This record gives sequence, structure tokens and C-alpha cells, in this order.
Amino acid sequence: MNYKHQYTDGTPIHYPLGKVVCIGRNYAEHAKELNNPVPSEPLLFIKPGSCAVPLAGGFAIPRERGAVHYEAEIAVLIGKPLSRQPGEEEIRDAISGFAPALDLTLRDVQARLKEKGHPWEIAKSFDGACVLAPFVPGDAIEDLGDIGIRLTLNGELRQDGNSSQMLNAIVPLIRHIAGHFSLQPGDVVLTGTPAGVGPLNQGDELLLELVGLSRFESRVL
Ligand code: ZN
Repeated sequence: MNYKHQYTDGTPIHYPLGKVVCIGRNYAEHAKELNNPVPSEPLLFIKPGSCAVPLAGGFAIPRERGAVHYEAEIAVLIGKPLSRQPGEEEIRDAISGFAPALDLTLRDVQARLKEKGHPWEIAKSFDGACVLAPFVPGDAIEDLGDIGIRLTLNGELRQDGNSSQMLNAIVPLIRHIAGHFSLQPGDVVLTGTPAGVGPLNQGDELLLELVGLSRFESRVL
């Protein structure tokens, strides 16, 4: 794994990436675009740390396994252990950073798995399936209910969401996760994708932004 956590100013973050905890269907408009019902409780899944790659310099996607979709998401870096439904302040204090990320998904493979009611791992956890950008520090954002996430693909704005549209806001989501299993320093939470997902192709140029906080250019190799 050649991915290592770092801040946007290049400062390394010393704990290694553990797991990446993801939530499906956390924006109603995105659930609708894939004809999925909005879940009554958070739909969680985990990507192993081994699937993470840095956004900088470009990233590769699987070939001949059907459509590979981008999902731009706000990534939250956990910096302190959290377990058993921690309180709001404890959670806020445990957040070490925010970054834009891509939850890459083999959409055709996922559709087949969903049909059978099987877990999504092979559609979500392949090598390179989690593309992470450097983080802005956790205290750089005051209002977690107003974080913009944007993806521009080949010059066209494709995803333009805001954490205010989340069905499960960041802090309650982390509380829910930690109520089921522990989060450790170095773990990342991907908070779901807004509407506008679609396929990636070799040579695509991407601009991924946390609006007003950080922006990164990259491409599909
Ligand atoms: Zn996702």
C-alpha cells in the first residue's frame, strides 16, 4: 500500500490508515438516482485500508469488470479511539481532518451482488477502490453541517453536494458507527455521495473539492 495520511500542507500524519467505514445512500437524491429506497437506519460497509491510493498524480481503475463509478464523498479522519456511542464533544475532538475522497465502485458487479442479496466487497474493496486526498485539519471547519463537496469531470460539474443534505449528519453518523464497532486513530469515515455518480474512463480529468477548503486535480491513468 503506497498510501499514507497527510495534511494539505504536506505534514505527514503518523498513524497508518486502518479501515475505511462507508455509508450507502446518505443523500436522498443519490438513493433515488440508483432506484434505491432510503434506508431506515445507516447502511454501513467497510473498505479495507489495503484498497486506498492517493489522489495525487492520478489513479488506475479496474479493466474488463464492467462500469467503474466515481462517488465523491467527504472523508473524515479519526484521530482518537471511539467506541460505544461516544458523546458529541468527544467525537468532535476525535476528528483529525477532512478531505474529499472517491469511493470507487464496480457498479455492474454491485448490481449483480445486490440482486442476490450478497455483500458488496468485491465491488467496493478492490485495490485502488478508495482514492484519498490530503486532509485539512479537523479544527479548520466550524460548522460540520455546511461542507460542500464537488466533483468536476473533464470540465463538467457532475456532483455538487453539501453535508447539509445528508440523511445522517457527520457527528450522529460517527456515533452510530462507534455504537456498533470501535473506530481507531487512522480510520477514515466516508460519509456518502451526493447525486450525480457515473462511470470513469481512462484519461478522464478530475477536479475534486471541499468547497472553499481544498481542491485537487487528478486523472484516471
Ligand atoms: Zn459511497
